[in-house]
Amino acid sequence: MDMKPSLAKLHKFLALEAQRGFDNGAVVGGLGRMLSPWEAEARVDGVPEEIIQAVVARLRDYDRLSPKSRAEVLQGLWRRIRRAFPEAPPLEARSPTSEPSPGDRVAEPASGGQKRPREAARPQPSRPAPSGKKTSPRVREALPGGAPVALSAPVTVIPGIGPRRARRLERLGIRTLEDLLYHFPRRYDDYAQLKPIRQLRYGEQATVLGTVERVGVRELKGGKLKVVEAFIGDGSGVIRATWFNQPWIAEQLSPGKAVALAGRIDQYLGRLVLTNPEWEELDEDLLHTGRIVPVYPLTAQITQRWLRALMAQVIPAWTPRVPDPLPPAVRQEVGLLDLSTALLQMHFPDSWEMLEAARTRLAFEEIFYLQLGVLQQKRRWQSRPGRVFTVSDAWLEEQTARLPFQLTGAQQRALAEIRRDLASGHPMNRLLQGDVGSGKTVVAALAMAMVTREGAQAALMAPTAILAEQHYRSLLRLLTEGEQAPLRPEEIRLLVGSTPNGERRAILEDLAAGKVKILVGTHALIEEPVQFADLQLAVIDEQHRFGVRQRGALRRKGENPHLLVMTATPIPRSLALTVYGDLDLTVMDEMPPGRKPVRTYLLFPKERERAYRLIRREVERGHQAFIIYPLIEESEALTHTPSAVEAHRRLQEEVFPDLKMGLLHGKMRDEEKDEVMRRFRDGEYHILVSTAVVEVGVDVPNATVMVIEGANRFGLAQLHQFRGRVGRGGDEAYCLLIPETENAAAENERLRAMVEISDGFRLAEKDLQQRGPGEFLGTRQSGYDVSFLRLANMLDVRLIEKARTLAQRLLEQDPDLQAPEHRLLAETLARRWSIAEGDMS
Ligand code: ADP
Ligand code: MG
Repeated sequence: MDMKPSLAKLHKFLALEAQRGFDNGAVVGGLGRMLSPWEAEARVDGVPEEIIQAVVARLRDYDRLSPKSRAEVLQGLWRRIRRAFPEAPPLEARSPTSEPSPGDRVAEPASGGQKRPREAARPQPSRPAPSGKKTSPRVREALPGGAPVALSAPVTVIPGIGPRRARRLERLGIRTLEDLLYHFPRRYDDYAQLKPIRQLRYGEQATVLGTVERVGVRELKGGKLKVVEAFIGDGSGVIRATWFNQPWIAEQLSPGKAVALAGRIDQYLGRLVLTNPEWEELDEDLLHTGRIVPVYPLTAQITQRWLRALMAQVIPAWTPRVPDPLPPAVRQEVGLLDLSTALLQMHFPDSWEMLEAARTRLAFEEIFYLQLGVLQQKRRWQSRPGRVFTVSDAWLEEQTARLPFQLTGAQQRALAEIRRDLASGHPMNRLLQGDVGSGKTVVAALAMAMVTREGAQAALMAPTAILAEQHYRSLLRLLTEGEQAPLRPEEIRLLVGSTPNGERRAILEDLAAGKVKILVGTHALIEEPVQFADLQLAVIDEQHRFGVRQRGALRRKGENPHLLVMTATPIPRSLALTVYGDLDLTVMDEMPPGRKPVRTYLLFPKERERAYRLIRREVERGHQAFIIYPLIEESEALTHTPSAVEAHRRLQEEVFPDLKMGLLHGKMRDEEKDEVMRRFRDGEYHILVSTAVVEVGVDVPNATVMVIEGANRFGLAQLHQFRGRVGRGGDEAYCLLIPETENAAAENERLRAMVEISDGFRLAEKDLQQRGPGEFLGTRQSGYDVSFLRLANMLDVRLIEKARTLAQRLLEQDPDLQAPEHRLLAETLARRWSIAEGDMS
């Protein structure tokens, strides 16, 4: 088994070449380039001259041969060599495997074909063997599949993973087989290029195969730093490799040993060197070098080598046993890899192309499962009957003519869509999104009037009492004032947490009797005793503050009522198609006339005085200002970011002693918050210091300055919401962003988008790009466990639309996924949708 290093190296080259399909790409510049260094090395090794000559003769013209002849030549050559050196391994495609790791050993799957000597010595698995040998997927596809496995099984089903390893894996959040298979590398190092040392270039990533010539340990800094230094030669040249603080490497690298080294080629004192390269012995199949090497996310006490070695044993053995839930028709239509191949390639890609194909497959399935879920919900909802409400053109014209302003085109379009929904015979399920100030309230008001004019009831739920109160007043103004007003004031009521008991009882009574036509309120609306006589339209404002559960709870107050949810959070189209894919979408992309964009500036912390001067100037002009502070976590309490409470005190004492200042933060009770907000709205404070709680839609038309401290801590979409709080009265308004430090260049770059972009949709797309869908939405928004969205680019509308079309088609054939061939699909879906179906409707 002690193969000569030069032959071991030749084997690597030839095996890599075979795996690449004989494209003459295993060595940069072609196999011929390795000939002269190899020849020299082989002589030193004592390889018989006739073998050397055979190699040289056959490889000299290798580049001129067709791939088919190349295959014959290399295989013939290697057979010749094995006759002289029977211990040489056969020439077959290479696969990931690893050096033995200490502790419990992972069993190999049974080998189908020839065994290499070292495999033969390994213990055989005690359970039914997973399929196939560990070879590249090309080879493996021809092999019979093993028994399918349950992905939800704990990792301990894997022979060789005992409680000890399981505990270690748990630190990475890996408990089940699925967790392990889906623990994807965070990046890959490209060490697939084998290169003669002479051809190495500074800065490139490469693998070199060579022999250890010298090795030693040097001590620096009085013995505190130990540096292993090895010289590796391959006949074409010698390169120095150094490792810091890993003295044991010196013992493993004895002179004469054949090794593979991989890393980025560095430069030191004018020579090319390798610093802390990956390395391994050459008589192993290469894992850490010589390939596209996976680099995993780690945590304390888990090393890259340990995890990679574990993965190298588990992934090729177990991925073939993973059944593919995606129906073959779907896979074919999109041209996707099967799941087993995709998972294997994600961990140990044969090429960058295969990696890309694997990613595409897995990203597609993420979106596909999401689409199946939302579309199923949508179909269920649409299959129910909904009360028909029709209004005449004359009525609508009369009602819009009554309004104090003319509706924008976007408002008219939104109303037309809602009118169509209400007449469709199925429950409306519509998301109305429009930037802050685009005028959603009046649209909702008219929708409610369409329903109440036939005697039915409507509800409007808002996330805070003060907002509910604002809506209540708007509705009174819009629906009960003037001639032809559709409702009388006592038919619209407000119900919030602080509504006195006597009044509450009266409201509930009139509601149950059908005398109250519109009930406006907070989540108090969905609490137990609230009973409608005939709820036919449920409207939810600022719906991102509520979850699917509350949406469902409000709906259940009626019998299949129509639903209108409104949001000022601009949702990129791709997300609207996915996470909100069960809703029909109306976008109001037009502002009422006369709105000026808020002037936005990025200030460095030391320019804060300018913000204070601006506030003072605006206050002197009779306006008001907000100052927002980020919430800080306990652990950060000692840093320079002041909390809103502390800032309020300091500003009041030192900066604005002559002004009235209010304070709003999350620890206050709801009634206290509302009281502060009310006072600010009514002009009792000049300045409101607040945490992010102020985000949601209260109108303070007189406020013209929004200062945001620690602006780097907020997402763009949220900053945009803050900005929307000012300039609602038509006066010039300002938004000043103050990041915590001035040298956080990347952060400040992100904030610059706020200065340049006033369109909420474009900001939301940027936000999604920067923070991912999880942070953007949170699980409770949709019921879909967003942790399953790992690879999909949520901005890839083309992919999303494709997945949606195919999901739609599948559900048309099999709405409940009951066909036997969809059983696995249904199970997978259930695992990924975390909220029970009852909550959805
Ligand atoms: P949002 O979409 O943020 O909920 P609102 O419904 O609160 O916006 O409307 C913001 C302000 O714009 C309100 O004062 C409202 O009366 C006013 N408004 C709504 N529609 C129009 C319009 N078409 N023309 C002029 N002002 C309008
Ligand atoms: Mg609003």
